[in-house]
Amino acid sequence: MTGTILVTGGSGYIAGYLIRQLAAQGWKINTTIRSLKREPEVRAALGVPGSSIRFFAADLMNDAGWAEAVAGCSHVAHVASPFPPNAVKDENELIVPAREGALRALRFASAAGVSRFVMTSSVAAIAYGHPGDRTYTEADWTDVEAPGVNAYAKSKTIAERAAREWVAANGGAMEFCTINPSAVLGPLMSDDYSASIEFVKRLLDGSVPGFPRLGFAVVDVRDLADLHVRALTAPGMANERFIGGGPFMMMREVGEILRERLGPEARKVPTRGIPDFVLRLMAVFDNSIRQVTGELGRTRAASSEHALVVLGWESRPAAESIVDTARSLIDRGIVKV
Ligand code: NAP
Repeated sequence: MTGTILVTGGSGYIAGYLIRQLAAQGWKINTTIRSLKREPEVRAALGVPGSSIRFFAADLMNDAGWAEAVAGCSHVAHVASPFPPNAVKDENELIVPAREGALRALRFASAAGVSRFVMTSSVAAIAYGHPGDRTYTEADWTDVEAPGVNAYAKSKTIAERAAREWVAANGGAMEFCTINPSAVLGPLMSDDYSASIEFVKRLLDGSVPGFPRLGFAVVDVRDLADLHVRALTAPGMANERFIGGGPFMMMREVGEILRERLGPEARKVPTRGIPDFVLRLMAVFDNSIRQVTGELGRTRAASSEHALVVLGWESRPAAESIVDTARSLIDRGIVKV
């Protein structure tokens, strides 16, 4: 199955891999970027045939360009949303564009007669603000009122909820579903890398003195793009929600994989842990660290069983994605080992 699709945020990591896979399958792609000044650079990074993709300038925060971008499209993959590497001063810097952008993309898609709309949400919209450790599923929602839930998790939760409410009230025949990925790793597409790559970079370049007791589940960007394609093309996707992630792992395990697989190139990867009280002290001076101290020692596993059962989807082993991320950072000269 192919057609014409709008992929929002063509300059992004996940969108880039999705565009590559769609182009390889013969889709015609429209994509939005904030400024057409970046079109040559983004085209070069994507490396797809020029005739298969068209660029449109559109920002999540205003209507200009959206009608043109979605005209003639049967499908939308709404991937764009703010995902900064550092903590923001005001949570609305993330919440407002995430929510308004999703609603804007939905409004224009519906007006253009789009039949399938797949939104990239996050495990951040599922697994936070709850006491105790358990395995989360698509039935769970992050509690944005709970203490310690960071601005990014709030932005993803509020945007997904707003999108689902909008679709229930106004969506008509347009099918809507979300993909909720865990931490996305894999080869970089350009030197402008996603925030999720940052922790592998910091482990490799020696800028962290040890492992905090923090962890996450990993999903490979290539497999995640494939999950998006499946959700775009499988029958009967209305109101579906798919977690895309592998097993939960602690940062120490990531470090062990790097040292084992990269040998001397991983010589700056720490070998020791950072005690929780040291991290809490560091958090007094560093807002980014403050955002994660509530996560120390927590396990937030999320099950991808639903994607396996309904779409036949699985992510490759996390070790492969971790090593490919590291190799890509080294090969591009972003990390000097
Ligand atoms: P990314 O590379 O930073 O991509 C984010 C994209 O959103 C970029 O194209 C960015 O454009 C665009 N964007 C941000 N604010 C915008 C605005 N106001 N107007 C228009 N475009 C805007 O990150 P990614 O990893 O590919 O993330 C893509 C999606 O996946 C996001 O929705 C993110 O929340 C979600 N996600 C990511 C992960 C992960 O670990 N990477 C995990 C779960 C969910 P610019 O290039 O102009 O900034």
